[in-house]
Amino acid sequence: MSGAACLACGGAQVERFLQLRGVPVFCNVLWPTREAAQAAPRGDLDLAICRDCGHVFNLAFDPELVRYAEGYENSLHHSPRFQAYAEELALDLRRRHALDGRHVVEIACGQGDFLKLVCAGPGSVGTGFDPSYRGASPGPNLAIRREYFGASPLGRAPDLVCSRHALEHMDDPVAFVRMMRDAVPPGSAPVYFCEVPNALYSLRDGGVWDFIYEHVSYFNARSLAACFARAGLPAARTWETFAGQFLCLETGPAGGPVASAAVPEGSQLAAMAAGLGDEVDRLLAHWRGEFARIAAAGGRVAVWGAGSKGVTFLNLMGAGGAIGVPVDINPAKHGLYLPGVGRQVVAPSDLPALGVALVLVMNPVYTGEITGMVRALGIAAPVTAV
Ligand SMILES: [Zn+2]
Repeated sequence: MSGAACLACGGAQVERFLQLRGVPVFCNVLWPTREAAQAAPRGDLDLAICRDCGHVFNLAFDPELVRYAEGYENSLHHSPRFQAYAEELALDLRRRHALDGRHVVEIACGQGDFLKLVCAGPGSVGTGFDPSYRGASPGPNLAIRREYFGASPLGRAPDLVCSRHALEHMDDPVAFVRMMRDAVPPGSAPVYFCEVPNALYSLRDGGVWDFIYEHVSYFNARSLAACFARAGLPAARTWETFAGQFLCLETGPAGGPVASAAVPEGSQLAAMAAGLGDEVDRLLAHWRGEFARIAAAGGRVAVWGAGSKGVTFLNLMGAGGAIGVPVDINPAKHGLYLPGVGRQVVAPSDLPALGVALVLVMNPVYTGEITGMVRALGIAAPVTAV
């Protein structure tokens, strides 16, 4: 037992299971020079799991290390697969909660891409909150405030409050949900919608490259519901999306059918977690061997996806990943360097000149999309998920 209390349910049966030292604090901050990238701040992962609710969290997380920097680039909307998912989710929320003509609030709305989709119906109004927001309003019916939600009064009562991929960053997620509950005007009763990465994907499906410093918490359906319940917002339903990689929670009436998520018992999740250290070692040994074989033949490996997974993978590979070239379709990342390893990100169109012998896909959900792009570039190398 670790002596720590579970961040989600408050339980005391918390066990450590995986330590990863010296990983970049910000996977999504890329750097203009190799030297700056290699000097980027690093922190440790000391992951623990709660035997009661199966919640996973980083005991070594230090909020002082985390200050969201300028140059934060985590927009996933460049991928057609992700864009299609966001459109489908927004339409589902609009229909089930009859949001046309209503007021939608989004916490940590980024550049407002999703808020714009949810507020696409006639008469809808959106208010977004994000200190990292840059630039012009994404639409006449949308107001985006460069501040944290709760920092100033909301004004009009919201009908839906959504938070996507924010709660896992909080060092006290229960306090954050309580703030979400308390920051709406008195008397309003919005539906709350929350989306986070699904820890079950990492634990059950081998998504080991998803453990990153920026994420304090890794929720499953039970621990997410426990977190909301402790904050005074009982969940009405939880369900998986995006091929099981994301987890959604809602309060209030469903307004339509939603398939609920099943989740193993906390003790079963703890048993899965106990094997992950060996799994990471096995995968790294396997890929170091493959990279060495390709390097000996003078080839290189395209590591497709210069986001969290690619940064974690290349940093853990260390010198054994030296022939790995990070590739990304997001033009904002091209020419910049990955934190830690200091490898420069190239565009897909750069690949034909690089002697690529293998394309390693960081997120298997994109394998089809990437294979199509690789073949269109005239590259015959095998495409496989990490
Ligand atoms: Zn717990």
